[in-house]
Amino acid sequence: MSGASGPLFRGWEVVVGLEVHTQLLTKTKLFCRCENRFGAPPNTLVCPVCLGHPGTLPVLNGEAVRLGVRAGLAAGCRVSPVSTFERKHYFYPDLPKGYQISQYAQPLLTGGGLRIRTETGERTIRIHRMHLEEDAGKNLHAGLPDRSHVDLNRAGVPLLEIVSEPDIRSPDEAVDYLKRLRQLLRATKVSDGNMEEGSFRCDVNLSIRRAGAKDFGTRVEIKNVNSFRFVHKAMVYEIERQIEAVESGEKILQETRLFDPVSGRTKSMRSKEEALDYRYFPEPDLPLLVLEPSLVEEERGALPELPEQRMERFCEEIGLARADAEILVAEEAIALYFEEGLQRFRTTIPEKEGLRKARERWTSFVVSEVLREFNRRGEEVLSGPTAVTQTVDLIERVLAGSLSFSQAKEVYSRAVEERKTPVLLVEELGLSQVSGEGELLALVEAVLSENPSEVAAYRGGKDRLFGFFVGAVMKKSRGKANPEKVNDLLRDKLKG
Ligand code: ADP
Ligand code: MG
Ligand code: ZN
Repeated sequence: MSGASGPLFRGWEVVVGLEVHTQLLTKTKLFCRCENRFGAPPNTLVCPVCLGHPGTLPVLNGEAVRLGVRAGLAAGCRVSPVSTFERKHYFYPDLPKGYQISQYAQPLLTGGGLRIRTETGERTIRIHRMHLEEDAGKNLHAGLPDRSHVDLNRAGVPLLEIVSEPDIRSPDEAVDYLKRLRQLLRATKVSDGNMEEGSFRCDVNLSIRRAGAKDFGTRVEIKNVNSFRFVHKAMVYEIERQIEAVESGEKILQETRLFDPVSGRTKSMRSKEEALDYRYFPEPDLPLLVLEPSLVEEERGALPELPEQRMERFCEEIGLARADAEILVAEEAIALYFEEGLQRFRTTIPEKEGLRKARERWTSFVVSEVLREFNRRGEEVLSGPTAVTQTVDLIERVLAGSLSFSQAKEVYSRAVEERKTPVLLVEELGLSQVSGEGELLALVEAVLSENPSEVAAYRGGKDRLFGFFVGAVMKKSRGKANPEKVNDLLRDKLKG
């Protein structure tokens, strides 16, 4: 029983445990040498082993074991020196052998956890276990009114199943946990975490209990929730459904429900009575999995900086605000882009104060502009004409006062759009800001001599006219004057 308490929903506490299936980034499948690749024409990545032909034997893919161990170490799990493979039986057209090889009695990894951060604070969601298993094929129904086809390219693809303890207390917490888990798997190159392609899939186990109750309520398992948004939606719906049922005197049935993204509802798929009996038994064709201690040590030594650690470092060493650091580490490619840019400023700007200003501008630019384009268009915006060096050049112009920050934003988004380097665009658009003392002074003096009565009124005490002069100078420069310098010059000249 977990004592952690979270937000209440109309006096009820929500209890959730998540089961995630993530495809591993191996070259080949878990027990045969077929390619592990998404998007090939149906049934072209198959062989007698993954087609379940009689007389074939599985051979375990060592790379999958290595990736599993790596994920486990990154999440603080215990690595089992010896683990087992079992057969899990069920009948479905996408499962040619009639059973799935999985790890049941002794999984590869146990324990561990992930730190999450939500409005209700920071907590650890404990991990119950992680184990290796093979994926099933895929039934294809689309565009086929009276029949279904089966594509077995996915059959035998290595999966890591990651089962949390029932420590999650709200839809927000569930989504945060999933995001962090996906980040971790991507940062360690265990999985690409691509949800559209099914490399990161989630089942939600959910129950409710009265606030303060010790025992868990009966849970339902919701299948087929394959985006963060759907997880949130399915949970909100299911929480309401369970509260309404219990408050009107009904009992929650232990059952499996299916989320329907179109209606946003969950509907019953099968009850506990109809629950499958998987008849697990040890896989006779595979030996026990005995790990070489050296493999575990190699993986431990090779772990990259994890998002959580990187965030701490961004806050403590670089001095970023926590909110900015969180955003930057969420996508590894963005974090690397950010740091590379910072490194460039460090080599070109020697003094502390200038460097601090550069860091502030750069952080704000990456967090807002670069991230927006990245989310819209993907990794391509981080290379080519808008690669780090080019974007840093642009920000250097802002720091030197020859371009305003809002002009830089404008130029950057056009540079992304037109695939041109930002600095080239600045030249083309004739955008460079007017900062030269002589040029600005000429503009200021022209404005003052054109508006003698306003000048007299200002000098007579009408302070509010200051904005009028600034506006007139900016207009004369067609928006290119450096506003800070215009302010200084005007203040000086208006003194009389
Ligand atoms: P199985 O799917 O084999 O029945 P478990 O019973 O171990 O596996 O649980 C699967 C998932 O359900 C785990 O993530 C666990 O945390 C979660 N879970 C178990 N009991 C509850 C409950 N009462 N309410 C919500 N989640 C639960
Ligand atoms: Mg399960
Ligand atoms: Zn095969």
